[in-house]
Amino acid sequence: MRLIFLGPPGAGKGTQAHRVAEGLGIPHISTGDMLRANIASGTALGREAATRMNAGELVPDALVISMLAERITAADAAAGFILDGFPRNLAQALALETSSVGTIDRVVLFIVDEDEIVRRIDGRRGCNQGHTYHLDDHPPSQPGVCDVDGEPLVQRPDDSEVVIRNRLKVYRRETEPLIDFYDERGLILEIKALGPVQHITRQILDAVRA
Ligand code: ADP
Repeated sequence: MRLIFLGPPGAGKGTQAHRVAEGLGIPHISTGDMLRANIASGTALGREAATRMNAGELVPDALVISMLAERITAADAAAGFILDGFPRNLAQALALETSSVGTIDRVVLFIVDEDEIVRRIDGRRGCNQGHTYHLDDHPPSQPGVCDVDGEPLVQRPDDSEVVIRNRLKVYRRETEPLIDFYDERGLILEIKALGPVQHITRQILDAVRA
């Protein structure tokens, strides 16, 4: 099954993509995570991406599209995948549509209002291995320390309030038009992304399997 998770930053796409991917036995492909891994390991791509990411702007299409194209043709993605954070604008959606990966089965659209988004992102913390928490909703057992690997928990540089506001602006301008794009193709599946994490996962799994 080939799925796209679409929705504003902070809607819980990453958390849900991880869980749904496990449920379906397909990889979770997050362009944001891939870019952060490039920054952490100091690649040329990471150096180019960092300034834009930290300002809440999009990384240039050419870089993201070639990074994704390589990942999506790996053996583990042959039976399907969940794309989280891609496509993020029309150019990326067209690149995906004209690529050789095959047709997308469903686009899961996360519905959540803006106050909730800011609350979620503001309280988000993570370790450098990618395990994420929320100060109120999903706190670690010991403050500031990852339960899984004992690493310190930090806030992402682009999760500060001023950068969040810019990410939301970029989302509305660049990414929101994709709702119509995929609606015209009959692929949109709306999910109200509020309430317990497990409940949302179940809703998504039931809907994509139906
Ligand atoms: P969120 O969805 O919470 O904003 P992500 O981890 O998906 O977080 O993305 C973080 C940042 O990575 C984005 O603000 C952007 O700078 C960059 N990025 C991720 N995916 C893409 C993409 N498909 N195209 C351009 N930039 C991207």
